Amino acid sequence: MDIKTFGVVGAGQMGCGIAQVAAASGLRVVLNDIREELVDKGIASIAARLARVVAKRAMAAEERDALLGRIRRSMSIEDMSDADFVIEAATENEPLKIKIFQDLDRNCRSGVILASNTSSIPIGRIGTQTKRPDKVIGMHFMHPAPVMKLVEVVRALSTSDETFRTTWDLCISFGKTPAEGADYPGFISNRIIMPMINEAVYCLYNGVGSRESIDTVMKLGMNHPMGPLALADLIGLDTCLAIMETLCDGFKDSKYRPCPLLRRYVEAGRLGQKVGRGFYEYD
Ligand code: NAD
Repeated sequence: MDIKTFGVVGAGQMGCGIAQVAAASGLRVVLNDIREELVDKGIASIAARLARVVAKRAMAAEERDALLGRIRRSMSIEDMSDADFVIEAATENEPLKIKIFQDLDRNCRSGVILASNTSSIPIGRIGTQTKRPDKVIGMHFMHPAPVMKLVEVVRALSTSDETFRTTWDLCISFGKTPAEGADYPGFISNRIIMPMINEAVYCLYNGVGSRESIDTVMKLGMNHPMGPLALADLIGLDTCLAIMETLCDGFKDSKYRPCPLLRRYVEAGRLGQKVGRGFYEYD
């Protein structure tokens, strides 16, 4: 299918990053969230990011304006009837995503691929709740999407070869490097990184080290570009908790039990950079 209009459901950290990537590649984008102020906040975050790129003279102001002009605001899933490819990047919650996929299935044309940016929820479980499981796939961008090269492409047993190939080629047309992960909880990326982050939270919880010590050990000792607690703040602690719960449920293995301190931070609304406070404080 010729993809000209790209739908994004969820205008949070990831949805906005993905919308920016798609618009930068020349596609028209429909960016959807549940409330107008959330879409506006998302578009403002894209504009702020692009303003920094323009200030560095890495993009002309006209190019920035054209890119922003390709992004259309949406507060109704029915707007996705115009889309040739849709990615869902809403909150990491399985019942919520299933409901969105059922709504998309009703509103999108029959040939349209429905991708999920989920970090951990098995794609097959989402696909079987639609009438087009062959056209449901995982397209897992990393945060921040405009900067990070990787997209993990996850095919369920029911995903067709054609859906996989189209999604793979779309990643390449976005200037990304796709890698294939199998449809198990957490795929490759979060199966590996999230237990490490959870263990870092346990280190804080058990008093093994301060937040600074834990992050310094992993940065300078293990050559990680950022420490695990700072990375958790970047991802969002609610998303980290949801991923650990998916791993714990999916593998029925207590080694994936989320640290109680992680849950306590989420319950206190300290969700990380997106709200200005997590393990660290942000302006
Ligand atoms: P976020 O909290 O920043 O944004 C989620 C957005 O989804 C919010 O704006 C919320 O209003 C919106 N939303 C909720 N219900 C909706 C609905 N019914 N219709 C439309 N929009 C709805 O979260 P995020 O960090 O952008 O994560 C989004 C998805 O991307 C999750 O599945 C997450 O696991 C995944 N992901 C996150 C990261 C990361 O590092 N944060 C990386 C890769 C993938």
